[in-house]
Amino acid sequence: MIMPDFDYDMFVIGAGSGGVRAARMSAQFGARVAIAEERYLGGTCVNVGCVPKKLFVYASHISEEMRDAKGLGWSLPPATFDWPTLIANKNTEIDRLNGVYDKLLKDRNVEVLHGRARLIDPHAVAINDRTLTARYILIAAGSRPHVPDIPGCELGITSDEAFFLKTLPKRVLIIGGGYIAVEFAGIFHGLGAHVTQTYRGPLFLRGFDDDVRQALAEAMAARGIDLRLDRNVTRLEKSNDAIIVTLTDGSTVETDCVLFATGREPYTRDLGLEAAGVEADPRGAIRVDAHSKTNIDSVYAVGDVTNRMNLTPVALAEGMAVAKTLFGNQPTAMHYHNIPTAVFSQPPIATVGLTEKHARQAYDDVNVYRSSFYPLKSALAGRREKTLMKIIVDAATDRVLGVHIMGPDAAEMIQGVAIALQCGATKSQFDATIGVHPTSAEELVTMRTRAD
Ligand code: NDP
Repeated sequence: MIMPDFDYDMFVIGAGSGGVRAARMSAQFGARVAIAEERYLGGTCVNVGCVPKKLFVYASHISEEMRDAKGLGWSLPPATFDWPTLIANKNTEIDRLNGVYDKLLKDRNVEVLHGRARLIDPHAVAINDRTLTARYILIAAGSRPHVPDIPGCELGITSDEAFFLKTLPKRVLIIGGGYIAVEFAGIFHGLGAHVTQTYRGPLFLRGFDDDVRQALAEAMAARGIDLRLDRNVTRLEKSNDAIIVTLTDGSTVETDCVLFATGREPYTRDLGLEAAGVEADPRGAIRVDAHSKTNIDSVYAVGDVTNRMNLTPVALAEGMAVAKTLFGNQPTAMHYHNIPTAVFSQPPIATVGLTEKHARQAYDDVNVYRSSFYPLKSALAGRREKTLMKIIVDAATDRVLGVHIMGPDAAEMIQGVAIALQCGATKSQFDATIGVHPTSAEELVTMRTRAD
């Protein structure tokens, strides 16, 4: 294992989810590891992604809970919300997590280097005026928000800045129709802002199940989010304290804050890929094989920088697979099927496996089960928002191909379902499972009537 001709066995660029996991695991296997980070430990997920986003979602949900409380017998004094308190408390928690990451790495004797690292050749990186060599280099540099180049785009912000706004804007316009756009639409709306969301296509969350997309669009509109579908933004202009946004249909929207949630791009610029001969695709994503190896034998890449499936748990798995492959004597390839995911929109959605559309493309005969119902809580809360569940089944084998949920606790429900799909569960096995009563989740084992 010891390679005296190199400074390290592995040099990791980027201390986000994938990089940290790979570094810790490799060190645990006995490798001498260094990790370089130019911003903050924990990467996007911990600092400007999943974690602060979920904290914001919790804060935002309180307004709904307070509204529902009335029907459940509570009378509450008029509530006020203080954005700076939320930001300050969130920052304190993130600082704590940064410290946890630092400790996790140092406890494993991983050397943490603060600075921007750049590849010089297949075994060397430059950082802080030093050149360090390694038997393997792992690129886990992540991604950055992408902002389309339209006039006035500099007046807008991205999710990076949304986590640090000094005040809660009264009006927000969100551009995009992916995870970040719908999640922030729900967050800002729940906290009291007037939210407009524009999406360039007919229905947002492309790639998710069509019924779920439709149901979410209806639920968000019913809650008061102004959805402008089939329209894009052509320019932003400053007008006193406001921003005037012009849409492709010629209409304008006056707002206080414009959030570009228009995708993210691999953070590979100036990383020295050419110097090391590492290939990237036209979008800058590093090309890798199933073991996350690039075209150069000593250089690996995991996470968003490879633009495979840009989710934290996937980056963790990729990082772990690299460590096992290189230092654990267990060559481990990644698979990307049955990966569950949740969008923390309001209401949330969660999904695992194939959508109805994809299943029909891939299988000859597909059975679809669909259920739409008011969750019990809504009976007294007076909320008229249905939960939607779908189960997609291969008719030939009875195997469940996909499950899609929109409604409260969807994210918490889908993890267990994902285990079942990972085990190759059939619809009959779902049906033979006893429900937990009274829950929404029991509907997953009681759906008997086909919807197709
Ligand atoms: P996505 O790629 O999910 O969505 C980008 C959206 O922006 C799409 O609706 C896209 O439209 C639209 N868009 C792209 N370019 C333009 C443009 N020039 N003008 C107008 N609209 C444009 O990216 P996000 O930024 O939402 O999130 C990035 C990734 O981070 C996600 O894909 C996900 O993997 C991850 N993530 C996961 C979360 C979770 O697990 N809960 C939460 C947040 C992020 P179109 O559909 O037409 O291409």
